[in-house]
Amino acid sequence: MAILKIEHLGIATKDATASKTVFDKLLGTSAYKEEEVASEGVNTIFYKLGESKLELLEASHPESAIAKYLEKNREGIHHLAVAVDDIYAEMERLKKEGFVFINERPKEGADNKLIAFIHPKSANGILLELCQERG
Ligand code: ZN
Repeated sequence: MAILKIEHLGIATKDATASKTVFDKLLGTSAYKEEEVASEGVNTIFYKLGESKLELLEASHPESAIAKYLEKNREGIHHLAVAVDDIYAEMERLKKEGFVFINERPKEGADNKLIAFIHPKSANGILLELCQERG
C-alpha cells in the first residue's frame, strides 16, 4: 500500500461557471469533465494537468460544506487530494498514526473515485483527501 501521487487540488469557487472561464484561459485548455456529486452537495469541474488535476468546486445547495467553507474563507485552494492504491489499508494505517478522518468509511466521490477526508486539525491545517480509482 502506498500514497502514489498528488491526484488533484480542489479549488473552492462561488460560481464554478465563472471560474471555468478564468481557468480555461489560465491553463490554455478546456475542462474534461463536469459532474454533480449530490452526496457532497457540490458541482465539480475537472482539468487535466499532466499527471495531476484541478477540481473546481461550487456548492449545489446552501447547506453544502463548500457553502459553509465560503462563509468563513475566500475562494481558493480548499483541499489536497492524494491517490492511494488501497484506501482501506491507508485509512487503517493513518488512524493508527492518530489522524482523524471526517468520514469513517470511504465514500463515492467525483471522477469515479472512492474518497475519504482527513480533518485539517490533524494534518497541519490541510484538508487532505485520499482517493482511489474505482475498478
Ligand atoms: Zn477533491
